[in-house]
Amino acid sequence: MQPRRPLLAGNWKMHGLTASGTELGKIIAGATGLKADVLVCPPFTLIARFAEAARHSPVMIGGQDCHAEPFGAHTGDIAAEMLADAGAKAVILGHSERRVDHGETDAEVCAKTRAAWRAGLIAIVCVGESRAEREGGLTREVVGRQLAGSLPQGAAAARLVIAYEPVWAIGTGLTPTPADIAEVHDFIRRLLETRFPGEGAAMRILYGGSVKPANARELLTVPGVDGALVGGASLKAEDFLAIGAVYR
Ligand code: PEP
Repeated sequence: MQPRRPLLAGNWKMHGLTASGTELGKIIAGATGLKADVLVCPPFTLIARFAEAARHSPVMIGGQDCHAEPFGAHTGDIAAEMLADAGAKAVILGHSERRVDHGETDAEVCAKTRAAWRAGLIAIVCVGESRAEREGGLTREVVGRQLAGSLPQGAAAARLVIAYEPVWAIGTGLTPTPADIAEVHDFIRRLLETRFPGEGAAMRILYGGSVKPANARELLTVPGVDGALVGGASLKAEDFLAIGAVYR
């Protein structure tokens, strides 16, 4: 099997104005030569502008959510086709902030993943346990259930990326131990290989949750970690690129 090419993805969440193009420009300049794919997911309002700026560069632009339908009476929502039309190449789906804040279910994430594929986007599907679930020894059960419910049939490695993001590690500065990350990634890998024979072995599994320049090397060199989904530290080009330096 070909080695999996790492993916370094930045989730800007609800941060970023027109002036943030300067930060993107620095990311584009610094991403050249990395032995990884690089993705920046700004808010919807910046996607078209960023995609234009990143054209002919190694940086891809992505969305943070999409609606399952291609169009319709869904005030405030964005279709996957609209993301693609604006120049997006990927979309984050089922992030815990959407699962918690918007009550997104696995079935909805599954429908959104199908929509992303319909529009030609790479779907980055997030899974991860809460603190109570980890403390209750339920990590595998929760992650297994989320994967079973959130992934449509027929997934191919070229259009599906999994992000393992323990909810308690997001934005908190807390991280699992490398051994814990390795164990969950191995568990996810075995589920993917069983469900998607021939493809599951090639799918990238990212780690996400408080990845910073100071811990990037320790976390991203864990066996089975194929890159990172980075929140807070992706907002500053200097920090994001310092994380990316693991792939130099
Ligand atoms: C995220 O929101 O996906 C994330 C991992 O955030 P942070 O890096 O800030 O913990």
